[in-house]
Amino acid sequence: MHPLLKTRSGQQKLLLGNQAIVRGALEAGVAFVTCYPGTPSSEISDAFFELSAETNLYFEYSTNEKVALEVGAGAAASGLRTLVVMKHVGVNVAADPLMTLAYVGVEGGMVVISADDPSLFSSQNEQDNRYYGKLSSLPILEPSSPAEAREMIKDAFDLSESLRLPVIFRTTTRINHSRGTVTFGRMKKRITQGRFVKDPGLKVTLPAVSRVLHGMLIEKYARAFQMANASPHNFVKGRGRPGIITNGISYAYVMDALSDLGLKSRIAVLRLGFSHPFPKKLVQRFLRGRDKVLVVEELEPYMEEETRAAAQEAGLTLKIAGKSDGLFSRLFEFDPGMVRAGIARYFDLKYKAPRPIKTADLPETPSRPPNLCPGCPHRSTFYTVKKIAGPDTVYPTDIGCYTLGFMPPLRMADFLLCMGSSISTACGISRATGRKTVAFIGDSTFFHGGLTGLVDAVHNKHNVLLIILDNGTTAMTGHQIHPGVDTTPIGRDKKQIRPEDVVRGLGVEDVYVVKPRNLKKMEAAVKAAMAHEGVSVIVSEEICPLYAQRIGQFTKKMVFRVDQARCKNRRDCLNLLACPAFYLDEDKVMINPDLCIGCAVCSQVCPEHAIRPVKLGELS
Ligand code: SF4
Ligand code: SF4
Repeated sequence: MHPLLKTRSGQQKLLLGNQAIVRGALEAGVAFVTCYPGTPSSEISDAFFELSAETNLYFEYSTNEKVALEVGAGAAASGLRTLVVMKHVGVNVAADPLMTLAYVGVEGGMVVISADDPSLFSSQNEQDNRYYGKLSSLPILEPSSPAEAREMIKDAFDLSESLRLPVIFRTTTRINHSRGTVTFGRMKKRITQGRFVKDPGLKVTLPAVSRVLHGMLIEKYARAFQMANASPHNFVKGRGRPGIITNGISYAYVMDALSDLGLKSRIAVLRLGFSHPFPKKLVQRFLRGRDKVLVVEELEPYMEEETRAAAQEAGLTLKIAGKSDGLFSRLFEFDPGMVRAGIARYFDLKYKAPRPIKTADLPETPSRPPNLCPGCPHRSTFYTVKKIAGPDTVYPTDIGCYTLGFMPPLRMADFLLCMGSSISTACGISRATGRKTVAFIGDSTFFHGGLTGLVDAVHNKHNVLLIILDNGTTAMTGHQIHPGVDTTPIGRDKKQIRPEDVVRGLGVEDVYVVKPRNLKKMEAAVKAAMAHEGVSVIVSEEICPLYAQRIGQFTKKMVFRVDQARCKNRRDCLNLLACPAFYLDEDKVMINPDLCIGCAVCSQVCPEHAIRPVKLGELS
């Protein structure tokens, strides 16, 4: 049995924030979960994927976040407790239905997880999704620790049902990926059979209906505002004339800093966990007892601006400091030292940052630039396309492992905006430059956001080549399934939809399905596709070797070795392909047999035929 199901009420476990969220949702009786995987939220969906095999809760990896939200909205409209999981940029994709779902509301509790990524550990931007609360009028809850995340998500379901509104549960990477002790609670009975009650006058958002619904949303917002002001998730710790207002992980850093700086008994801290609607009355009460207040929050000055507005409305003239005073940055995630230094500066304390631990005697950690794995099929695809289409062709790329094709020596990424943007931007670039443009997209991303761009390309007769890098999984976020995956090896019964069938169905006539490790065949396909005027698609199909190993479809039988007698040291293997298994020993190119997976691509690149296979048993 899955450990998150097994553990009894009252037991304690050390959990990742994401696991704590899963456990909390299970305790809340969640029955329906949809998602599109994305760091830092992926472990939540992966856990539910596993759990769904052992329970009667429904789970799906949806095509994208918009679809996830829409499928979830249907379940919540039918009365089921529903969780929709995505990372912060995913909310942009789901924003369209989210704004209107706020009008229609829900029957069963619905929680939308927005996992924000300050410092862009794995994202294309670091937007602050608290502003989605303002835009949609939806409530936001923000936990400060894994233990609180478990507890708070249960309240989020209750709050959603009480207001009949989806609730945004906003986390940040540091909450999702830190570990903490979590005490388990009782599991609520899961209700998996829903009922949809027809009420077109309130559920079909024609303009006349939506005018009424918008008024109803404003009423619900007013109730949510009262609830935020009285919420136990908004609390004051300590007392003193000066104050700090904080949220999320910053609260943990603030409490540590006050303790380290000896300020704990002198400063009152207001922690906002129910942060939208902004609990203005509570904040005004807090401000009244203070002579000055510092706001500590990552990313945008959301609370700082709201606090200033609340003070102004109440006629309070105390000094409110924060980002606008340069005490903290709007860039990147905070860390405990940074918060300590900011607080010390604000309170005029002499603070010396602790001396860094001496590491001079430790061996230097080898730097590991982001790179495609050894034997990754994307490398051979990029190598061949570059060889045929040349360095002057523009290559818009997309979000996934293959974005790493931008690294030298491949340098096969020229433009990137968001999921699914490669094909549409290629259309624009091709139309503007009059040249065939080559876009790269992964299989999962193709289903997520590439289809509409391809329809545009076909309909408007753009001159683009789309290369679908089909590695049979969603590799970058941890090997999740998507509509193009053959799920039989992992024992799941899902219908596989092949990208080439979809592409033909959308009207593309020039379609090739090629194994990229066969460089000759790949070259022929790229040549033909580049010569075609109009839309061409190559499906470059080869399973991700890491995924293949994971599902037992690959066992390493041989590796490749450089025959030094034949090698003339021209280094095409290093300069053009650069598989990470290569290294230089003095002046000689060598292959690390532990990294090599035996894909045979380098042996086709070597002009001297000096790279030869060796059976594992024959390795000396
Ligand atoms: S995880 Fe798989 S697809 Fe991604 S870079 Fe590594 S081998 Fe390639
Ligand atoms: S065979 Fe060559 S390209 Fe393939 S993993 Fe080994 S060293 Fe890398």
